[in-house]
Amino acid sequence: MLELKSLKKSYVQGKETIEIFEDLNFTLEEGQRVAIMGKSGSGKSTFLSLVSGIIKADGGSISLKGVSYNDLEESEINDFRATNIGFVFQNFHLVSYLNALENVMLPAKVCNISKPKEKAIELLTSVGLSHRLDHLPSQLSGGEKQRVAIARALIHNPKIILADEPSGNLDEETGNAVMDKLFELIKKNGTTLILVTHSKDVAKRCEKTYELVLGNLNQC
Ligand code: ADP
Ligand code: MG
Repeated sequence: MLELKSLKKSYVQGKETIEIFEDLNFTLEEGQRVAIMGKSGSGKSTFLSLVSGIIKADGGSISLKGVSYNDLEESEINDFRATNIGFVFQNFHLVSYLNALENVMLPAKVCNISKPKEKAIELLTSVGLSHRLDHLPSQLSGGEKQRVAIARALIHNPKIILADEPSGNLDEETGNAVMDKLFELIKKNGTTLILVTHSKDVAKRCEKTYELVLGNLNQC
């Protein structure tokens, strides 16, 4: 499903070069749910950005569903991502001037999804927000915003969900409720998941946990 081989990535900041990955190898089977833990600054978000093709590796290869990113032009990577990947971020990343329903329908504008409005309402209902369809993000609580973001990440039936500390900004109870919804939906759809988290309890929901240390993903 996902295969990273000898992946290299560093950032150049002024005179300094920050090595994140020198030789990262990682594979993930379809339908697997894995957690990634690791200290702040260890490269977890960089890893997700590489897997999504948002940033380019300096060397090595990434392939998702048998498609190697090295073989794709930038516009092709963008299309590939829009079709195959769903994102959930710590800070929700909702569009402030769109209401909940419009936010969830956004990916449908890029991908060809039949009956996007019905699908968006169905997803918002399944995360318990059928009564908040026309609320703007500023009119929603943190937990509600994250449930909107989860619905948005799932509307195009992505093969894989990448979640970057999705409960990091929520209190424990709200975070747990949001995670319950996320796992309920991805289990139903057989979606593959890479979940970055600082919480051992959240990580326990996944089949495997890795720790990112010095550019390597070590299984815990
Ligand atoms: P994590 O998500 O594990 O906290 P990140 O992947 O965000 O870590 O960042 C890893 C390291 O790379 C950090 O030291 C960060 O400061 C640095 N970094 C991240 N993005 C950039 C960038 N665009 N330019 C320069 N340095 C970066
Ligand atoms: Mg991060």
